[in-house]
Amino acid sequence: MSTRRGLLIILSSPSGAGKSTLSRRLLDWDPSLSFSVSATTRAPRPGEVAGRDYHFLTEEAFKHEVAAGEMLEHAHVFGNFYGSPKGAVQVAIEAGRDVLFDIDWQGAQQIRNSALGAHTLSIFLLPPSIRELHRRLQERGQDSAEVIARRMQKSWDEISHWDGYDFVLVNEDLDTTEARLRTIIEATRLRRTQQPWLTDHVRALHAEFEETR
Ligand code: ADP
Ligand code: 5GP
Repeated sequence: MSTRRGLLIILSSPSGAGKSTLSRRLLDWDPSLSFSVSATTRAPRPGEVAGRDYHFLTEEAFKHEVAAGEMLEHAHVFGNFYGSPKGAVQVAIEAGRDVLFDIDWQGAQQIRNSALGAHTLSIFLLPPSIRELHRRLQERGQDSAEVIARRMQKSWDEISHWDGYDFVLVNEDLDTTEARLRTIIEATRLRRTQQPWLTDHVRALHAEFEETR
């Protein structure tokens, strides 16, 4: 009776603030969550697995997907194209499963303004400081000094869109941020619009109420 509608859960932040780490933790916490594997034209980083972390496409293949209307949203970030394929998201949402997106503010804005906007939960992660953001990018050890410098340059662009999100968390302590994310997700699942079955339930309550009056 209580089939819910799937939520589109969007995590955005400047690069290095903790989206991937927190996404992994949320997927471990709730195996019913699915992750929207984005398509990108950038090269894989060491350790990244095609089909799990990203679908790595050529620019030509990416543009073809966009032209065919296969992307829910897409954007140009750090000189590469990124986009969220529509098909997998639709399947999950229709089955009542929530989908997690690790995407930038442009993608978040496009999804919010789409037909699925009403079923979107958007969360922005801020770093405790710019110095700490830089330290995390270095500690991650996956990007060259030049790429890190470019990501730091772009961090303000991303941060300046913080006020377009439903929730904003400062990711200082990982465990605290994860706990807050869980709370936000659990509460949003109970939003009236996520529970279409309530209409029938209230109708049944009304019939019963009339009968017993
Ligand atoms: P993003 O996906 O936003 O680019 P990552 O999740 O890759 O960021 O995190 C960047 C680095 O910072 C990783 O090495 C990660 O382990 C570390 N990190 C993430 N959150 C925290 C935190 N709250 N405290 C300390 N280090 C963190
Ligand atoms: P990275 O190269 O570090 O994996 O990602 C760079 C930026 O692109 C991050 O801000 C990430 O959230 C964003 N991104 C990843 N996938 C997508 C996507 O499908 N769409 C959009 N709009 N941004 C994405």
